[in-house]
Amino acid sequence: MDDCLFCRIAAKKIPASVVYEDDEMLAFDDIHPQAPVHVLIIPKEHFASLNDLPEGREALLGRMVAKARDLAEAKGIAKSGYRVVLNTAKDSGQNVFHIHFHVLGGRKMACPPG
Ligand code: AMP
Ligand code: ZN
Repeated sequence: MDDCLFCRIAAKKIPASVVYEDDEMLAFDDIHPQAPVHVLIIPKEHFASLNDLPEGREALLGRMVAKARDLAEAKGIAKSGYRVVLNTAKDSGQNVFHIHFHVLGGRKMACPPG
């Protein structure tokens, strides 16, 4: 999708600080970090949001969550704690309509989130 920011990042048409890549996903630092560690994990395939994930593709999200855990470990925040966020649609604050997980950590976070 040429008009999708994260598709363009996945296609390397827009630069990003990539921390992990394989055949089906890409992880890169958020351009406006909200915590000392703020990584985004995206599938290379375009799905606008969780609402648009087709039946049968759920395992992809499982692998992305497992990657969030591995990246938290690699970034040294697994033990101190981290948050994995998946914003979906307008009220959540989703701004980029290409499904992505935020991995945030390195500071104490409020709960419940606002
Ligand atoms: P969301 O509000 O859940 O859709 O999150 C979108 C995230 O993408 C925000 O945290 C933005 O800071 C981040 N973002 C937007 N543009 C870029 C970019 N070019 N590179 C890295 N992160 C970006
Ligand atoms: Zn996309």
